[in-house]
Amino acid sequence: MDLHRLTLPLPLRLNHLNAYLIRGPAGCALCDTGMATEPARETLVAGLAALGLAPRDLRQVFVTHFHGDHWGLAPFLQGEGARVLMPRIDHELIQAWFTHPDYDRRAVESFRELGVPEEVLAGSARALAGMRAVSPRFVADQTVEDDELVELAGVRFRVLVTPGHTPGHACLEELEGERRLLCGDHVLPQITPNISRDLGLLDDPLGAYRAALARVRGRGLGTAWPAHGGPMTNLDGRIDEILAHHRERAEALLALLDEREPRPILALCDGLFGLRKLDGWETWMALGETRAHLRALELEGRASAQRDASGTLRFRRETSA
Ligand SMILES: [Zn+2]
Repeated sequence: MDLHRLTLPLPLRLNHLNAYLIRGPAGCALCDTGMATEPARETLVAGLAALGLAPRDLRQVFVTHFHGDHWGLAPFLQGEGARVLMPRIDHELIQAWFTHPDYDRRAVESFRELGVPEEVLAGSARALAGMRAVSPRFVADQTVEDDELVELAGVRFRVLVTPGHTPGHACLEELEGERRLLCGDHVLPQITPNISRDLGLLDDPLGAYRAALARVRGRGLGTAWPAHGGPMTNLDGRIDEILAHHRERAEALLALLDEREPRPILALCDGLFGLRKLDGWETWMALGETRAHLRALELEGRASAQRDASGTLRFRRETSA
């Protein structure tokens, strides 16, 4: 198979998404699409044209997970005749997000209950609304499960469901030839993927993510091609770095927790990420990741949560740990 990286613009600080064109014995397919913006669509069409292709030449589109930068142009490509495949769990989530207009509001409210003040949440609520505004509704033509074998452009892949970044995130493992991995946001070269505890998502996303990293590690895979950043020739080494990063973050969070004085999530998040330098979207991700780490520490018996007199949840370190 021939693999071509098409780098598409994103209107975020993380300023690009890689879509991958797969050329095989049965034509062409695309892995991830870019966001539903005019600059992304134009760049995709131009990138295809440079390879002598048009959108109607794409037989299939595989979407790795439910974030809008990965599937935004899927409805456009369906209109051009492509079949869209997506992991079932994230497809269910996206349908729930489409059909419940108050989904974002309830997600934001779940942080309000944790004592995050209005002015901080307002920026995140605006960022979520902005994402919804560039998210056209769509229904996949086919959903896929973990371990399922799929053929894209006549090339055989195994679907590896790798929860953590989202509950149903999936990677594509090439079964023959170079055994490349199209890894979406599961493993990224320069940044670590956001692992958030959020409404309707996993109870222990960090635990799930660690297990999903272990699943991909040690499979003897070739180059891994991520949705953001360049290719990774040492996938296992990068996975070890990400695992070490989360161990360090857990220790940093423990150091912010006190045994006697329980602290609210905002102070802990600020201590970990420095909220002043973050925009609304990044603040949202930082709060979610702090919550994911707190949950992992709770499950390990190293932290606990309790409500104060005003009903705000506060976190403290457990002594014996
Ligand atoms: Zn993502």
